[in-house]
Amino acid sequence: MIGLHLACEQYMGRHHMDRVLFESTNRRSPAVDLRQALLQGQAPDRGLYIPRSFPSLTRHDLAEFGQLPYCEIAFRVLSGFCQGILAPEDLRSLCRDAYNFEVPLEKVFDRVHVMRLDQGPTASFKDFAARMMARWIGRFVRESGRSLNILTATSGDTGSAVASAFHGVAGIRVLVLFPRGEVSHQQRKQMTTLRDNIRTIAVDGKFDDCQALVKQAFADPDLAGIPLSSANSINIGRLLPQSVYYIYAASRLAEPGEPIVLTVPSGNFGNMMGAVIANAMGLPVRRLVVPVNGNDEFPQFLKTGHYQKIEPSRNCLSNAMNVGHPSNLARLVALYGGQMDETGRIHHPPRLDEMRQKIFSTSVSDERTRDTIRDAWQSHRLMLEPHGAVGWRGFLDYLETDPLSDVPIAVLETAHPAKFPDEIERIIGISPSAPPSLAALDRLPEDNDSMSAEYPLFKAYLLARYGD
Ligand SMILES: *Cc1c(COP(=O)(O)O)cnc(C)c1O
Repeated sequence: MIGLHLACEQYMGRHHMDRVLFESTNRRSPAVDLRQALLQGQAPDRGLYIPRSFPSLTRHDLAEFGQLPYCEIAFRVLSGFCQGILAPEDLRSLCRDAYNFEVPLEKVFDRVHVMRLDQGPTASFKDFAARMMARWIGRFVRESGRSLNILTATSGDTGSAVASAFHGVAGIRVLVLFPRGEVSHQQRKQMTTLRDNIRTIAVDGKFDDCQALVKQAFADPDLAGIPLSSANSINIGRLLPQSVYYIYAASRLAEPGEPIVLTVPSGNFGNMMGAVIANAMGLPVRRLVVPVNGNDEFPQFLKTGHYQKIEPSRNCLSNAMNVGHPSNLARLVALYGGQMDETGRIHHPPRLDEMRQKIFSTSVSDERTRDTIRDAWQSHRLMLEPHGAVGWRGFLDYLETDPLSDVPIAVLETAHPAKFPDEIERIIGISPSAPPSLAALDRLPEDNDSMSAEYPLFKAYLLARYGD
């Protein structure tokens, strides 16, 4: 990434660094520091925050990481972004607290590994970012002496990860809206059994209705007196922690300085932006493979240079990746020198050739996803759920274009197979066993409110609950 290296070279090294500032992809808002970017979520000009410069990791840092546990790598990677905002010892203890679970790298063949990001409390990769973001925001809210209400709309995994991450954080109340008929039994239980500072509303409608209610509340001047923030992946706090596991994978699979191939099954492109950030910080990445499901707007864009969002998004088996216009594309385009606004309009084209050299993308149909779950099990005893299967298939597609040998490779599995027991059992005849976090859910009582998807009702609810 030529453009980004310039940014890195401005620094003498981590210890002499100034505060990292974040600027808006729409380029019409002032740059802010991490604290402000976290608390604001979206920039005032409706753009998304991206780092103006990147703290750099040296070859020496990368060599040291091979001996360090995950939480310590997280501390060292994130400390560059927290300079001047959070004391190093405080950040270190937040990282220890957030990352108290395993990050397994499962060998499949040669140097090819599947990295399972499913050992957190809600069994998807979204725990990694949600847990760090909740600790950052909790800290800053406490320092401000005020309170904050987090509204989030979910189609499943985000709501449970965010609710679990903020559970018990003082000064913060979380309200999750989910579409009554569109979340799985387990996803619902992960949100509705927490209580305390977590409330959930089952909305009679679709995910889009939930999101519309939340957006309208943010824009409503009558609610200006209520401190509201959001926790979806427009928040830069959802991206920075996602750079860490790529660096961790390389520390275990690659020699220091040896380029790695990373594969990331993608929907809203927040996860893959973590890899882009890691690369910008100095992690050598040979190729970033970004498979998508039937929502193929990104591979089409890469191929043709024309961006056409998919409206409404296509319903595929890997439901957390059913995104017809990924909001994080605006960030990717910005890092490659272009500008895309929130509607998907491109004002300046990015350096497409450079993007094509770094990124490979392919679309995997539901039929190929199911075949892959079967083949991976039969050939390698590799248990995949639908999102991970899109990733694995996309990686195999990539291998056909670049027959790698003796290259370190990490393919991400983004959720635990036990979140999709019926689908997996239908295909391979075996039901994945549930980790303790999922198994315990069945014993817990649920508690949620219900509402039809009408804004006046939602507004009255917010005023009654959070107004003074
Ligand atoms: C959210 C999610 C994805 C997609 O991640 P993005 O950052 O939106 O690209 C993939 N797999 C699972 C299991 C998810 O929950």
